[in-house]
Amino acid sequence: MKKIGIILLLIIVLPIGFLVFNEFGKLNETEKVLEETYKNQLEAILFSVNQYSDDIINSWANKVNELNVDDVLLRNFLKDNLSIESIFFLNSEKPESTVFIFNENISPSIDSIRLEIISTLSSNRNLISRLTQYQKAGYRKIEPLGVNDKNNFAVVVFSNQETDKNYSITGFLINPEVFARKVLLPRIQQIAQNRFTIVVKDNKDKIIASTDRTELTGEFEFEKQMWLIPDYKIGILFIGQTIQGLVRDRATNNMILIGILLLVLVAAVIFVYRAVKKELELAQLKADFVSNVSHELRTPLALISMFAETLELDRVKNDEKKKEYYSIITQEADRLGRIVNSILNFAKMEAGKRIFNFEYINLNEIVDKIYLTYSYHLQNKGFKFEKHLSEKLPEVKVDAEAISEAIINLIDNAVKYSSDVKEVILKTYSQNNYIIIEVSDKGIGIPPEYQKKIFDKFYRVSYGLVHNVKGTGIGLSLVKQIVDAHNGKVELESKPGVGSTFRIILQTDSHN
Ligand code: ADP
Repeated sequence: MKKIGIILLLIIVLPIGFLVFNEFGKLNETEKVLEETYKNQLEAILFSVNQYSDDIINSWANKVNELNVDDVLLRNFLKDNLSIESIFFLNSEKPESTVFIFNENISPSIDSIRLEIISTLSSNRNLISRLTQYQKAGYRKIEPLGVNDKNNFAVVVFSNQETDKNYSITGFLINPEVFARKVLLPRIQQIAQNRFTIVVKDNKDKIIASTDRTELTGEFEFEKQMWLIPDYKIGILFIGQTIQGLVRDRATNNMILIGILLLVLVAAVIFVYRAVKKELELAQLKADFVSNVSHELRTPLALISMFAETLELDRVKNDEKKKEYYSIITQEADRLGRIVNSILNFAKMEAGKRIFNFEYINLNEIVDKIYLTYSYHLQNKGFKFEKHLSEKLPEVKVDAEAISEAIINLIDNAVKYSSDVKEVILKTYSQNNYIIIEVSDKGIGIPPEYQKKIFDKFYRVSYGLVHNVKGTGIGLSLVKQIVDAHNGKVELESKPGVGSTFRIILQTDSHN
Protein backbone atom coordinates (compact mmCIF):
# COMPACT_ATOMS: atom_id res chain seq x y z
CA MET A 1 0.00 0.00 0.00
CA LYS A 2 2.85 2.32 0.85
CA LYS A 3 4.42 1.55 -2.51
CA ILE A 4 1.17 2.32 -4.31
CA GLY A 5 0.86 5.57 -2.37
CA ILE A 6 4.37 6.56 -3.42
CA ILE A 7 3.73 5.56 -7.05
CA LEU A 8 0.49 7.57 -7.11
CA LEU A 9 2.35 10.48 -5.66
CA LEU A 10 5.11 10.20 -8.22
CA ILE A 11 3.07 9.71 -11.36
CA ILE A 12 0.05 11.85 -10.62
CA VAL A 13 0.50 14.33 -7.84
CA LEU A 14 4.06 15.43 -8.55
CA PRO A 15 3.67 16.27 -12.27
CA ILE A 16 0.30 17.90 -11.71
CA GLY A 17 1.53 19.73 -8.66
CA PHE A 18 4.42 20.94 -10.75
CA LEU A 19 1.99 21.99 -13.49
CA VAL A 20 -0.21 23.86 -11.05
CA PHE A 21 2.81 25.55 -9.53
CA ASN A 22 3.96 26.50 -13.00
CA GLU A 23 0.48 27.79 -13.84
CA PHE A 24 0.56 29.98 -10.76
CA GLY A 25 3.87 31.38 -11.91
CA LYS A 26 2.54 31.99 -15.40
CA LEU A 27 -0.60 33.56 -14.03
CA ASN A 28 1.37 36.56 -12.89
CA GLU A 29 3.04 36.86 -16.26
CA THR A 30 -0.25 36.51 -18.09
CA GLU A 31 -1.82 39.15 -15.90
CA LYS A 32 1.05 41.49 -16.71
CA VAL A 33 0.60 40.91 -20.44
CA LEU A 34 -3.10 41.42 -20.01
CA GLU A 35 -2.61 44.64 -18.11
CA GLU A 36 -0.23 45.78 -20.83
CA THR A 37 -2.79 44.95 -23.50
CA TYR A 38 -5.52 46.81 -21.68
CA LYS A 39 -3.21 49.79 -21.30
CA ASN A 40 -2.31 49.71 -24.98
CA GLN A 41 -5.97 49.66 -25.84
CA LEU A 42 -6.63 52.69 -23.63
CA GLU A 43 -3.59 54.45 -24.98
CA ALA A 44 -4.81 53.91 -28.54
CA ILE A 45 -8.16 55.42 -27.63
CA LEU A 46 -6.57 58.47 -26.05
CA PHE A 47 -4.29 58.78 -29.05
CA SER A 48 -7.30 58.88 -31.33
CA VAL A 49 -8.92 61.61 -29.19
CA ASN A 50 -5.73 63.67 -29.40
CA GLN A 51 -5.57 63.00 -33.11
CA TYR A 52 -9.11 64.22 -33.44
CA SER A 53 -8.45 67.54 -31.69
CA ASP A 54 -5.38 67.93 -33.87
CA ASP A 55 -7.52 67.33 -36.95
CA ILE A 56 -10.09 69.88 -35.83
CA ILE A 57 -7.50 72.59 -35.22
CA ASN A 58 -5.88 71.68 -38.54
CA SER A 59 -9.19 72.10 -40.31
CA TRP A 60 -9.53 75.53 -38.66
CA ALA A 61 -6.09 76.42 -39.92
CA ASN A 62 -7.08 75.34 -43.45
CA LYS A 63 -10.22 77.39 -43.24
CA VAL A 64 -8.36 80.48 -42.11
CA ASN A 65 -5.97 80.00 -45.04
CA GLU A 66 -8.92 79.89 -47.40
CA LEU A 67 -10.58 82.94 -45.89
CA ASN A 68 -7.42 84.90 -46.66
CA VAL A 69 -7.57 87.48 -43.88
CA ASP A 70 -10.96 88.66 -44.99
CA ASP A 71 -12.21 90.38 -41.87
CA VAL A 72 -15.92 89.70 -42.39
CA LEU A 73 -15.44 86.09 -43.35
CA LEU A 74 -13.14 85.54 -40.39
CA ARG A 75 -15.69 87.07 -38.01
CA ASN A 76 -18.34 84.75 -39.43
CA PHE A 77 -15.98 81.83 -39.02
CA LEU A 78 -15.51 82.77 -35.39
CA LYS A 79 -19.27 82.93 -34.89
CA ASP A 80 -19.49 79.30 -36.00
CA ASN A 81 -16.64 78.19 -33.76
CA LEU A 82 -17.30 79.36 -30.27
CA SER A 83 -14.29 77.61 -28.81
CA ILE A 84 -11.99 80.04 -30.63
CA GLU A 85 -11.85 83.27 -28.69
CA SER A 86 -9.61 85.03 -31.13
CA ILE A 87 -7.54 84.66 -34.27
CA PHE A 88 -4.35 86.68 -34.49
CA PHE A 89 -1.82 87.34 -37.19
CA LEU A 90 1.65 87.90 -35.89
CA ASN A 91 3.86 90.50 -37.39
CA SER A 92 7.24 88.74 -37.04
CA GLU A 93 9.17 91.97 -37.41
CA LYS A 94 7.04 93.96 -35.04
CA PRO A 95 5.12 91.69 -32.67
CA GLU A 96 3.43 94.68 -31.13
CA SER A 97 1.61 95.26 -34.43
CA THR A 98 0.02 91.84 -34.27
CA VAL A 99 -3.55 91.88 -35.62
CA PHE A 100 -6.28 90.39 -33.43
CA ILE A 101 -9.81 89.45 -34.45
CA PHE A 102 -11.93 88.64 -31.41
CA ASN A 103 -15.02 86.47 -31.28
CA GLU A 104 -17.99 88.76 -30.77
CA ASN A 105 -19.75 86.32 -28.52
CA ILE A 106 -16.97 86.46 -26.04
CA SER A 107 -16.02 89.43 -24.01
CA PRO A 108 -12.57 88.86 -22.62
CA SER A 109 -10.52 91.72 -21.32
CA ILE A 110 -9.20 92.27 -24.76
CA ASP A 111 -6.37 94.63 -24.02
CA SER A 112 -4.67 92.63 -21.35
CA ILE A 113 -4.93 89.54 -23.52
CA ARG A 114 -3.44 91.34 -26.42
CA LEU A 115 -0.46 92.35 -24.33
CA GLU A 116 -0.01 88.94 -22.87
CA ILE A 117 -0.03 87.26 -26.25
CA ILE A 118 2.40 89.72 -27.68
CA SER A 119 4.80 89.11 -24.80
CA THR A 120 4.39 85.32 -25.13
CA LEU A 121 5.08 85.54 -28.82
CA SER A 122 8.14 87.68 -28.27
CA SER A 123 9.55 85.23 -25.78
CA ASN A 124 9.02 82.33 -28.19
CA ARG A 125 11.03 83.67 -31.08
CA ASN A 126 12.79 80.36 -31.60
CA LEU A 127 9.56 78.51 -32.07
CA ILE A 128 8.28 81.16 -34.43
CA SER A 129 11.39 80.98 -36.62
CA ARG A 130 11.16 77.18 -36.62
CA LEU A 131 7.58 77.37 -37.88
CA THR A 132 8.69 79.74 -40.63
CA GLN A 133 11.39 77.27 -41.66
CA TYR A 134 8.87 74.44 -41.74
CA GLN A 135 6.70 76.56 -43.95
CA LYS A 136 9.58 77.14 -46.37
CA ALA A 137 9.97 73.39 -46.56
CA GLY A 138 6.28 73.23 -47.49
CA TYR A 139 5.13 71.82 -44.19
CA ARG A 140 2.66 73.33 -41.80
CA LYS A 141 2.93 72.48 -38.16
CA ILE A 142 0.63 73.59 -35.38
CA GLU A 143 2.42 74.23 -32.11
CA PRO A 144 1.00 74.93 -28.65
CA LEU A 145 2.16 78.05 -26.89
CA GLY A 146 0.82 77.08 -23.51
CA VAL A 147 -2.19 77.86 -21.42
CA ASN A 148 -2.92 81.15 -19.80
CA ASP A 149 -4.09 80.48 -16.28
CA LYS A 150 -5.53 83.85 -15.52
CA ASN A 151 -7.81 84.19 -18.49
CA ASN A 152 -8.10 80.51 -19.13
CA PHE A 153 -7.21 80.24 -22.75
CA ALA A 154 -4.78 78.14 -24.73
CA VAL A 155 -2.73 79.43 -27.59
CA VAL A 156 -1.69 77.55 -30.70
CA VAL A 157 0.27 78.96 -33.59
CA PHE A 158 1.05 77.81 -37.11
CA SER A 159 2.67 79.19 -40.23
CA ASN A 160 0.35 80.52 -42.86
CA GLN A 161 1.47 80.44 -46.49
CA GLU A 162 -1.35 82.45 -47.93
CA THR A 163 -1.08 85.57 -45.82
CA ASP A 164 1.14 88.57 -46.19
CA LYS A 165 4.84 87.82 -45.73
CA ASN A 166 4.97 89.98 -42.65
CA TYR A 167 2.10 88.14 -41.13
CA SER A 168 3.23 84.63 -41.88
CA ILE A 169 2.31 83.23 -38.45
CA THR A 170 -1.30 82.80 -37.46
CA GLY A 171 -2.61 81.79 -34.02
CA PHE A 172 -5.76 80.75 -32.26
CA LEU A 173 -6.80 81.62 -28.77
CA ILE A 174 -8.80 78.63 -27.73
CA ASN A 175 -11.12 78.38 -24.75
CA PRO A 176 -10.26 74.87 -23.58
CA GLU A 177 -13.52 74.37 -21.66
CA VAL A 178 -15.70 75.24 -24.61
CA PHE A 179 -13.43 73.21 -26.88
CA ALA A 180 -13.71 70.18 -24.61
CA ARG A 181 -17.49 70.40 -24.24
CA LYS A 182 -18.55 71.50 -27.70
CA VAL A 183 -15.95 69.90 -29.93
CA LEU A 184 -14.42 66.96 -28.14
CA LEU A 185 -17.33 65.64 -26.10
CA PRO A 186 -19.54 64.46 -29.01
CA ARG A 187 -16.55 62.62 -30.42
CA ILE A 188 -15.41 60.99 -27.18
CA GLN A 189 -18.97 59.97 -26.45
CA GLN A 190 -18.95 58.14 -29.74
CA ILE A 191 -15.68 56.43 -28.88
CA ALA A 192 -16.55 55.61 -25.28
CA GLN A 193 -19.98 54.10 -25.94
CA ASN A 194 -20.88 52.17 -22.82
CA ARG A 195 -17.52 50.61 -22.27
CA PHE A 196 -15.39 53.46 -21.05
CA THR A 197 -15.62 56.73 -19.27
CA ILE A 198 -13.51 59.40 -20.96
CA VAL A 199 -12.97 62.79 -19.35
CA VAL A 200 -11.08 65.99 -20.09
CA LYS A 201 -9.32 67.59 -17.11
CA ASP A 202 -7.98 71.09 -16.84
CA ASN A 203 -4.55 72.07 -15.62
CA LYS A 204 -5.82 71.97 -12.02
CA ASP A 205 -7.05 68.41 -12.47
CA LYS A 206 -10.67 69.50 -12.52
CA ILE A 207 -12.88 67.51 -14.85
CA ILE A 208 -14.36 69.88 -17.44
CA ALA A 209 -16.01 67.38 -19.74
CA SER A 210 -17.01 63.79 -19.17
CA THR A 211 -18.92 61.05 -20.95
CA ASP A 212 -20.22 59.95 -17.58
CA ARG A 213 -23.08 61.94 -16.16
CA THR A 214 -22.26 61.11 -12.57
CA GLU A 215 -19.70 63.19 -10.69
CA LEU A 216 -16.24 61.72 -11.06
CA THR A 217 -13.26 62.54 -8.92
CA GLY A 218 -9.83 61.25 -8.16
CA GLU A 219 -7.04 59.74 -10.17
CA PHE A 220 -7.73 58.25 -13.51
CA GLU A 221 -6.51 54.90 -14.49
CA PHE A 222 -4.89 56.22 -17.54
CA GLU A 223 -4.25 59.82 -18.48
CA LYS A 224 -2.54 61.51 -21.41
CA GLN A 225 -1.63 65.12 -21.97
CA MET A 226 -3.45 66.85 -24.77
CA TRP A 227 -1.00 67.56 -27.53
CA LEU A 228 -2.16 71.05 -28.37
CA ILE A 229 -3.39 72.17 -24.97
CA PRO A 230 -0.53 71.27 -22.65
CA ASP A 231 -1.38 70.59 -19.00
CA TYR A 232 -4.87 69.60 -20.00
CA LYS A 233 -5.39 65.89 -19.84
CA ILE A 234 -7.66 63.23 -21.22
CA GLY A 235 -8.40 60.41 -18.83
CA ILE A 236 -10.04 57.07 -19.41
CA LEU A 237 -11.28 54.14 -17.39
CA PHE A 238 -13.29 50.99 -17.93
CA ILE A 239 -16.85 51.39 -16.81
CA GLY A 240 -17.48 49.69 -13.48
CA GLN A 241 -13.94 48.35 -13.21
CA THR A 242 -10.37 49.51 -13.08
CA ILE A 243 -7.67 47.71 -15.04
CA GLN A 244 -6.19 46.45 -11.81
CA GLY A 245 -9.66 45.33 -10.76
CA LEU A 246 -10.21 43.52 -14.03
CA VAL A 247 -6.82 41.89 -13.90
CA ARG A 248 -7.25 41.01 -10.25
CA ASP A 249 -10.67 39.49 -10.96
CA ARG A 250 -9.24 37.41 -13.73
CA ALA A 251 -6.35 36.32 -11.55
CA THR A 252 -8.72 35.44 -8.70
CA ASN A 253 -10.97 33.49 -11.06
CA ASN A 254 -7.99 31.62 -12.44
CA MET A 255 -6.70 30.87 -8.97
CA ILE A 256 -10.11 29.61 -7.89
CA LEU A 257 -10.21 27.40 -10.98
CA ILE A 258 -6.75 26.04 -10.29
CA GLY A 259 -7.73 25.55 -6.65
CA ILE A 260 -10.82 23.59 -7.66
CA LEU A 261 -8.74 21.58 -10.11
CA LEU A 262 -6.29 20.79 -7.35
CA LEU A 263 -9.07 19.77 -4.99
CA VAL A 264 -10.65 17.52 -7.62
CA LEU A 265 -7.25 16.03 -8.22
CA VAL A 266 -6.59 15.39 -4.56
CA ALA A 267 -10.08 13.86 -4.25
CA ALA A 268 -9.39 11.68 -7.30
CA VAL A 269 -6.07 10.53 -5.87
CA ILE A 270 -7.70 9.72 -2.53
CA PHE A 271 -10.43 7.89 -4.39
CA VAL A 272 -7.94 5.87 -6.47
CA TYR A 273 -5.85 5.16 -3.38
CA ARG A 274 -8.89 3.92 -1.49
CA ALA A 275 -10.13 1.83 -4.41
CA VAL A 276 -6.72 0.22 -4.85
CA LYS A 277 -6.44 -0.32 -1.11
CA LYS A 278 -9.85 -1.99 -1.04
CA GLU A 279 -8.98 -4.19 -4.00
CA LEU A 280 -5.72 -5.23 -2.36
CA GLU A 281 -7.48 -6.00 0.89
CA LEU A 282 -10.07 -8.00 -0.99
CA ALA A 283 -7.32 -9.90 -2.81
CA GLN A 284 -5.71 -10.65 0.55
CA LEU A 285 -9.08 -11.71 1.99
CA LYS A 286 -9.66 -13.97 -1.02
CA ALA A 287 -6.29 -15.62 -0.53
CA ASP A 288 -7.14 -16.16 3.16
CA PHE A 289 -10.54 -17.49 2.09
CA VAL A 290 -9.02 -20.19 -0.11
CA SER A 291 -6.76 -21.42 2.68
CA ASN A 292 -9.61 -21.18 5.23
CA VAL A 293 -11.98 -23.16 3.00
CA SER A 294 -9.39 -25.87 2.45
CA HIS A 295 -8.93 -26.07 6.16
CA GLU A 296 -12.67 -26.14 6.82
CA LEU A 297 -13.12 -28.97 4.35
CA ARG A 298 -10.16 -30.97 5.53
CA THR A 299 -11.29 -31.30 9.18
CA PRO A 300 -14.68 -33.03 8.59
CA LEU A 301 -13.13 -35.12 5.80
CA ALA A 302 -10.39 -36.34 8.14
CA LEU A 303 -12.94 -37.18 10.85
CA ILE A 304 -15.23 -38.98 8.41
CA SER A 305 -12.45 -41.04 6.93
CA MET A 306 -11.00 -41.86 10.36
CA PHE A 307 -14.32 -43.09 11.85
CA ALA A 308 -15.39 -44.83 8.64
CA GLU A 309 -12.08 -46.68 8.53
CA THR A 310 -12.42 -47.74 12.16
CA LEU A 311 -15.91 -49.07 11.50
CA GLU A 312 -14.84 -50.74 8.26
CA LEU A 313 -12.09 -52.65 10.02
CA ASP A 314 -14.70 -53.77 12.50
CA ARG A 315 -12.59 -52.61 15.40
CA VAL A 316 -15.58 -51.38 17.38
CA LYS A 317 -17.45 -54.13 19.09
CA ASN A 318 -19.64 -52.03 21.31
CA ASP A 319 -22.94 -51.12 19.58
CA GLU A 320 -23.23 -47.92 21.57
CA LYS A 321 -19.82 -46.78 20.36
CA LYS A 322 -20.67 -47.78 16.78
CA LYS A 323 -23.79 -45.64 16.93
CA GLU A 324 -21.78 -42.73 18.22
CA TYR A 325 -19.27 -43.12 15.36
CA TYR A 326 -22.05 -43.28 12.78
CA SER A 327 -23.57 -40.17 14.24
CA ILE A 328 -20.22 -38.39 14.11
CA ILE A 329 -19.86 -39.37 10.46
CA THR A 330 -23.36 -38.06 9.68
CA GLN A 331 -22.72 -34.83 11.56
CA GLU A 332 -19.42 -34.23 9.83
CA ALA A 333 -20.94 -35.07 6.44
CA ASP A 334 -23.68 -32.56 7.25
CA ARG A 335 -21.11 -29.98 8.14
CA LEU A 336 -19.23 -30.69 4.93
CA GLY A 337 -22.46 -30.37 2.99
CA ARG A 338 -23.25 -27.09 4.69
CA ILE A 339 -19.86 -25.62 3.90
CA VAL A 340 -20.06 -26.67 0.26
CA ASN A 341 -23.64 -25.40 0.06
CA SER A 342 -22.85 -22.07 1.54
CA ILE A 343 -19.92 -21.63 -0.85
CA LEU A 344 -22.15 -22.54 -3.79
CA ASN A 345 -24.90 -20.23 -2.58
CA PHE A 346 -22.40 -17.48 -2.04
CA ALA A 347 -21.08 -17.91 -5.59
CA LYS A 348 -24.65 -17.87 -6.93
CA MET A 349 -25.46 -14.73 -4.99
CA GLU A 350 -22.30 -13.04 -6.22
CA ALA A 351 -23.23 -13.88 -9.79
CA GLY A 352 -26.78 -12.66 -9.11
CA LYS A 353 -28.08 -16.07 -10.08
CA ARG A 354 -29.74 -17.17 -6.85
CA ILE A 355 -33.47 -17.59 -7.32
CA PHE A 356 -35.74 -17.16 -4.31
CA ASN A 357 -39.08 -18.92 -3.92
CA PHE A 358 -41.21 -16.71 -1.74
CA GLU A 359 -44.23 -18.11 0.05
CA TYR A 360 -46.29 -17.16 3.09
CA ILE A 361 -45.11 -18.96 6.17
CA ASN A 362 -45.04 -18.62 9.93
CA LEU A 363 -41.40 -18.11 10.82
CA ASN A 364 -41.90 -20.11 14.04
CA GLU A 365 -42.12 -23.18 11.87
CA ILE A 366 -38.69 -22.56 10.44
CA VAL A 367 -37.15 -21.80 13.84
CA ASP A 368 -38.81 -24.88 15.38
CA LYS A 369 -37.37 -27.09 12.70
CA ILE A 370 -33.89 -25.69 13.15
CA TYR A 371 -34.16 -25.97 16.91
CA LEU A 372 -35.10 -29.61 16.60
CA THR A 373 -32.25 -30.39 14.26
CA TYR A 374 -29.64 -28.65 16.35
CA SER A 375 -30.66 -29.09 19.95
CA TYR A 376 -29.18 -32.56 20.35
CA HIS A 377 -25.94 -31.54 18.73
CA LEU A 378 -25.62 -28.32 20.75
CA GLN A 379 -26.56 -29.84 24.04
CA ASN A 380 -23.97 -32.51 23.36
CA LYS A 381 -21.43 -29.74 23.06
CA GLY A 382 -22.50 -28.44 26.45
CA PHE A 383 -24.63 -25.55 25.21
CA LYS A 384 -27.74 -24.20 26.84
CA PHE A 385 -29.95 -23.94 23.73
CA GLU A 386 -33.34 -22.24 24.13
CA LYS A 387 -36.15 -20.91 21.96
CA HIS A 388 -38.68 -18.26 22.92
CA LEU A 389 -41.21 -17.98 20.14
CA SER A 390 -44.03 -15.46 20.07
CA GLU A 391 -47.34 -17.22 19.69
CA LYS A 392 -48.99 -14.48 17.67
CA LEU A 393 -46.55 -14.23 14.84
CA PRO A 394 -48.12 -13.09 11.54
CA GLU A 395 -47.16 -14.95 8.41
CA VAL A 396 -44.59 -13.43 6.08
CA LYS A 397 -43.67 -14.10 2.52
CA VAL A 398 -40.14 -15.52 2.58
CA ASP A 399 -37.92 -18.09 0.94
CA ALA A 400 -37.98 -20.61 3.79
CA GLU A 401 -34.78 -22.33 2.72
CA ALA A 402 -32.82 -19.11 2.47
CA ILE A 403 -34.07 -17.77 5.79
CA SER A 404 -33.20 -21.13 7.43
CA GLU A 405 -29.74 -20.86 5.98
CA ALA A 406 -29.35 -17.38 7.44
CA ILE A 407 -30.52 -18.49 10.91
CA ILE A 408 -28.28 -21.56 10.82
CA ASN A 409 -25.31 -19.39 9.92
CA LEU A 410 -26.05 -17.17 12.92
CA ILE A 411 -26.38 -20.19 15.22
CA ASP A 412 -23.16 -21.62 13.81
CA ASN A 413 -21.35 -18.39 14.63
CA ALA A 414 -22.92 -18.22 18.10
CA VAL A 415 -21.50 -21.66 18.76
CA LYS A 416 -18.12 -20.99 17.17
CA TYR A 417 -17.55 -17.73 18.99
CA SER A 418 -18.66 -18.80 22.48
CA SER A 419 -16.03 -19.60 25.03
CA ASP A 420 -16.83 -20.04 28.75
CA VAL A 421 -20.55 -19.35 28.87
CA LYS A 422 -22.12 -21.66 26.33
CA GLU A 423 -25.56 -20.35 25.62
CA VAL A 424 -27.55 -19.79 22.43
CA ILE A 425 -31.05 -18.29 22.58
CA LEU A 426 -33.48 -18.14 19.65
CA LYS A 427 -36.33 -15.66 19.76
CA THR A 428 -39.11 -14.60 17.46
CA TYR A 429 -41.44 -11.68 18.03
CA SER A 430 -43.31 -9.03 16.14
CA GLN A 431 -43.14 -5.29 16.58
CA ASN A 432 -45.38 -2.93 14.62
CA ASN A 433 -45.08 -4.14 11.04
CA TYR A 434 -41.93 -6.09 11.62
CA ILE A 435 -41.10 -9.65 12.50
CA ILE A 436 -37.83 -10.20 14.29
CA ILE A 437 -35.76 -13.33 14.61
CA GLU A 438 -33.07 -13.06 17.24
CA VAL A 439 -30.02 -15.26 17.76
CA SER A 440 -28.01 -14.36 20.84
CA ASP A 441 -25.00 -15.79 22.58
CA LYS A 442 -22.82 -15.01 25.57
CA GLY A 443 -19.63 -15.46 23.57
CA ILE A 444 -16.58 -13.37 22.90
CA GLY A 445 -18.53 -10.47 21.35
CA ILE A 446 -17.39 -8.13 18.62
CA PRO A 447 -15.57 -4.81 19.21
CA PRO A 448 -17.58 -1.85 17.84
CA GLU A 449 -15.00 -1.00 15.16
CA TYR A 450 -15.54 -4.40 13.49
CA GLN A 451 -19.31 -4.53 13.75
CA LYS A 452 -19.94 -3.10 10.30
CA LYS A 453 -17.10 -4.88 8.53
CA ILE A 454 -18.03 -8.41 9.56
CA PHE A 455 -20.87 -8.34 7.04
CA ASP A 456 -18.35 -7.82 4.21
CA LYS A 457 -17.48 -10.89 2.20
CA PHE A 458 -14.41 -12.83 3.37
CA TYR A 459 -13.99 -10.51 6.34
CA ARG A 460 -12.95 -12.13 9.61
CA VAL A 461 -12.07 -10.31 12.82
CA SER A 462 -8.40 -10.67 13.65
CA TYR A 463 -8.85 -9.96 17.32
CA GLY A 464 -8.36 -11.94 20.50
CA LEU A 465 -9.85 -15.39 20.58
CA VAL A 466 -11.15 -15.36 17.00
CA HIS A 467 -7.71 -16.34 15.82
CA ASN A 468 -8.25 -19.88 16.97
CA VAL A 469 -11.67 -20.32 15.41
CA LYS A 470 -11.97 -21.68 11.91
CA GLY A 471 -14.16 -20.01 9.34
CA THR A 472 -14.43 -18.85 5.76
CA GLY A 473 -15.66 -15.29 6.31
CA ILE A 474 -18.69 -15.64 4.06
CA GLY A 475 -21.32 -16.67 6.64
CA LEU A 476 -22.49 -13.18 7.64
CA SER A 477 -22.23 -11.77 4.13
CA LEU A 478 -24.61 -14.56 3.06
CA VAL A 479 -26.95 -13.65 5.91
CA LYS A 480 -26.94 -10.03 4.80
CA GLN A 481 -27.47 -10.87 1.14
CA ILE A 482 -30.40 -13.15 1.97
CA VAL A 483 -32.03 -10.60 4.26
CA ASP A 484 -31.46 -7.85 1.68
CA ALA A 485 -33.25 -9.98 -0.90
CA HIS A 486 -36.22 -9.98 1.51
CA ASN A 487 -36.04 -6.17 1.84
CA GLY A 488 -35.14 -6.68 5.47
CA LYS A 489 -32.34 -5.59 7.78
CA VAL A 490 -29.77 -7.32 9.97
CA GLU A 491 -29.06 -5.66 13.27
CA LEU A 492 -26.24 -6.42 15.65
CA GLU A 493 -25.82 -5.67 19.29
CA SER A 494 -22.56 -6.89 20.73
CA LYS A 495 -20.10 -6.23 23.51
CA PRO A 496 -16.67 -7.85 23.67
CA GLY A 497 -16.61 -10.39 26.49
CA VAL A 498 -20.37 -10.16 27.05
CA GLY A 499 -21.94 -11.60 23.95
CA SER A 500 -23.71 -10.83 20.70
CA THR A 501 -27.29 -10.60 19.52
CA PHE A 502 -28.04 -10.72 15.80
CA ARG A 503 -31.53 -9.71 14.66
CA ILE A 504 -33.08 -10.44 11.30
CA ILE A 505 -35.82 -7.87 10.82
CA LEU A 506 -38.45 -8.51 8.14
CA GLN A 507 -41.38 -6.38 7.12
CA THR A 508 -44.68 -8.23 7.40
CA ASP A 509 -46.32 -6.45 4.51
CA SER A 510 -43.23 -6.10 2.35
CA HIS A 511 -44.34 -8.79 -0.06
CA ASN A 512 -48.09 -8.51 0.24
P1 ADP B 1 -16.60 -16.85 9.68
O1 ADP B 1 -17.39 -17.16 10.91
O2 ADP B 1 -16.53 -17.97 8.72
O3 ADP B 1 -15.28 -16.26 9.99
P2 ADP B 1 -18.66 -14.91 9.18
O4 ADP B 1 -18.95 -14.05 7.99
O5 ADP B 1 -19.76 -15.80 9.63
O6 ADP B 1 -17.34 -15.69 8.87
O7 ADP B 1 -18.29 -13.97 10.37
C1 ADP B 1 -17.37 -12.92 10.18
C2 ADP B 1 -16.65 -12.61 11.47
O8 ADP B 1 -17.56 -12.03 12.40
C3 ADP B 1 -16.12 -13.80 12.19
O9 ADP B 1 -14.82 -14.11 11.69
C4 ADP B 1 -16.10 -13.37 13.64
O10 ADP B 1 -14.92 -12.68 13.91
C5 ADP B 1 -17.25 -12.41 13.73
N1 ADP B 1 -18.45 -13.01 14.32
C6 ADP B 1 -19.54 -13.49 13.66
N2 ADP B 1 -20.47 -13.93 14.53
C7 ADP B 1 -19.98 -13.73 15.76
C8 ADP B 1 -20.48 -13.98 17.09
N3 ADP B 1 -21.66 -14.54 17.31
N4 ADP B 1 -19.68 -13.62 18.12
C9 ADP B 1 -18.48 -13.06 17.91
N5 ADP B 1 -17.96 -12.80 16.69
C10 ADP B 1 -18.70 -13.14 15.63
